[in-house]
Amino acid sequence: MGEFDLIERYFKRPPLSADVGIGDDCAVWTPRSGHQLAFSADMLVEGRHFLSTVNPHHLGHKSLAVNLSDLAACGATPQAFMLSLSLPRADEAWLAGFSSGLFQLADQHRCELIGGDTTQGPLNISITVMGDIPTGQSILRSGAQVGDDLYVSGHLGDARLALEAFRGNVSLPQHVFELARLRMERPTPRVALGQALRGIATAMADISDGLIGDLGHILKASHVGAEIDTTFAPALMQTHPFWTCPPDLAMTCALSGGDDYELVFSASPSASANVQRAAKESGTSITRIGRITDSRRLELLGMDGLPVAISLNSFDHFA
Ligand code: ADP
Ligand code: MG
Repeated sequence: MGEFDLIERYFKRPPLSADVGIGDDCAVWTPRSGHQLAFSADMLVEGRHFLSTVNPHHLGHKSLAVNLSDLAACGATPQAFMLSLSLPRADEAWLAGFSSGLFQLADQHRCELIGGDTTQGPLNISITVMGDIPTGQSILRSGAQVGDDLYVSGHLGDARLALEAFRGNVSLPQHVFELARLRMERPTPRVALGQALRGIATAMADISDGLIGDLGHILKASHVGAEIDTTFAPALMQTHPFWTCPPDLAMTCALSGGDDYELVFSASPSASANVQRAAKESGTSITRIGRITDSRRLELLGMDGLPVAISLNSFDHFA
């Protein structure tokens, strides 16, 4: 199967909204009036971001999910994406699984594949996603205000737990491992929550490298500090009610484990009813974990509200 047959068979579909989609030298797109466009790119490299044994359907899902998560973090509505693929060979079973996982998620969000590039080489998946936002309503990292409440969506730490199990550092009951592994391989981008928080959240980021690291980006951009209650951490793991994670590991997973693709955001205490409504309307659970302070640093509080000294690092490819 040649390069063009491959694109035709696995990636080309009738255009939804693009003026020109796959097949010409450029895709052409007319933005909605009164909207700004939001772009983001994320690359997944075999051996670095996923194991060679991963189910290709899950990999297709995750490749787009991590990109949609960035749109969610700005409050953007997904519109279209481009897919650049480097493949060792044209493996039809792999392509069928990958493209079905990819399109299943794309269709859920009405996000259209409008082009890309395909080359032979080490397995590498690079997606650029485009969304739109009513002009002036994007939620940035820089807007957190002293006194704001801090929230996270969904569950934290399960993807890291799965990674620790894959590495042989922890032994999990089979059903717990399967749950954690699904969180790692099929993350849920919080797109509806992100959009529902427009005009409500003062700052937001998605948690790809761990809560502490990604919250740190908000604090830095907003020139503020925060205190978070770490006693919430073990209960935020989806695996939690089914299995008791050793406390130190739970702390590491929930506070600094990567690959969660949840949202961390700040909002004024006066907006708390609106925050709860946004969560309810988007069908997403949220947890208040702390507040923004003027201390310019992140303080982790334990039982009785006393500071705890934990050294946790977020993920850094070059550290
Ligand atoms: P060019 O050589 O002009 O850059 P290509 O021959 O690489 O274009 O690609 C032909 C068409 O197929 C283009 O419209 C391109 O956007 C699209 N395309 C290539 N690879 C992919 C892919 N992996 N997914 C979606 N569209 C793709
Ligand atoms: Mg060309």
